[in-house]
Amino acid sequence: MTTLQSNFDARTARVLDELTRKGEYKHLQMIQGPMGPTVTLRQDDGSSKEVLCFCSNNYLGLANDPRVVEAGIEGLKKYGAGTASVRFICGTFDCHETIEHTIAQYMGTEASYTFVSCWTANEAIYPTFAEPGDIIISDALNHACIIDGIRLAATMKKGVHKTVFPHADYGVLREKLIAAAKDPEVTGQVWVVTDGVFSMEGDIADLPAIRGLCDEFGAMLIVDDSHGHGVMGRTGRGTHEHFGMMGRGADGGGTSGNDIGEVDFFTGTLGKGLGGGAGGFVAGSRRGIELLIQRGRPTLFSNALPATIACSANKAIEIIMDEPEHVQRLKTNVDTARSKIKAAGFDVLESPTAILPIIVGETSKAIAMSQRLLEMGVFVIGFGYPVVPEGEARLRIQMSAAHTGEHIDALVDALKKL
Ligand SMILES: *Cc1c(COP(=O)(O)O)cnc(C)c1O
Repeated sequence: MTTLQSNFDARTARVLDELTRKGEYKHLQMIQGPMGPTVTLRQDDGSSKEVLCFCSNNYLGLANDPRVVEAGIEGLKKYGAGTASVRFICGTFDCHETIEHTIAQYMGTEASYTFVSCWTANEAIYPTFAEPGDIIISDALNHACIIDGIRLAATMKKGVHKTVFPHADYGVLREKLIAAAKDPEVTGQVWVVTDGVFSMEGDIADLPAIRGLCDEFGAMLIVDDSHGHGVMGRTGRGTHEHFGMMGRGADGGGTSGNDIGEVDFFTGTLGKGLGGGAGGFVAGSRRGIELLIQRGRPTLFSNALPATIACSANKAIEIIMDEPEHVQRLKTNVDTARSKIKAAGFDVLESPTAILPIIVGETSKAIAMSQRLLEMGVFVIGFGYPVVPEGEARLRIQMSAAHTGEHIDALVDALKKL
């Protein structure tokens, strides 16, 4: 040890001090059991406290469903701890084939391919699919891993262009498409990319409007519906089901009469509504999936989805397909919570998703409110600047099918006491 701090140590100490001073330092809460409508939190004095959880992505309550857990255990026993290989060498097990078939069936696509996370799926799809002369047009509020995946594509392949339209402003999207059509440097494919459900607003992309624009300009549409899977549509397929865009044979026909649905490719996570484990996927045409298998760098250089996750997530998706009542219960819970929160006098954003943001204004206020709620046994996170715009700090409530009427009443009572 030298007494002189390295450059890295000195500047990191400054960054951490500043975060603490501004009240932006994140303290990780330690959970001592499974994710559910209630969780056990470790307290500062080492004791445990059970609190209501309104901030997880466990939308259908499947993270601790006994059948999902059992399927994971069986997978662990049958296949061991992991693949010890990338997919194309000796890391493809028949449980991967099974879950990729299940995901394609669930999504209404020809094929799918899994990754260790949706983050990885987005890092795979853009650099693999985009070629010089292409342009990728992205909603400003798209998830961080979409932004990074697009940046990576543009960095790795010179001549891949990228541009952003303001959130849900399809007038500007149209202008961007017109500009791309006139741009002599755009000689290849035009891609339009959006989240299905936006995580901070809880709002949804207008997929029929975007599809219409894509058709007009010959663009391909990619939707990341990580917060929509298990939530949106009558059977929880996602935002495309919500809009009747699953294609013939899947939802009985969307607006285009296309056999394979109206969204060209999806990315999604297995770590939210679909069992809460981990992992991600790309779903779409067989040909596109083939390209990912041949050329995707995470496919070629990173390990496969662990078998235990492949088995537990597969079971979670089968349960959703067999038992649509979980999706219905979630919708009922969302409606109940929204009307009671509104009746209590709070400004909650309107939307069909399971994300209920309450705008409170200042970042410090949002943080203080979430601390006060936790003292009352209700776990809700406050988000402030820079995650959301200045002055629009919010409490973000996330509903689950696993919440009961009493859980919702306890939430509203605690909000009223604030
Ligand atoms: C949560 C989320 C991800 C990240 O998923 P992981 O599987 O945890 O990497 C990606 N995209 C969107 C839109 C998300 O909401």
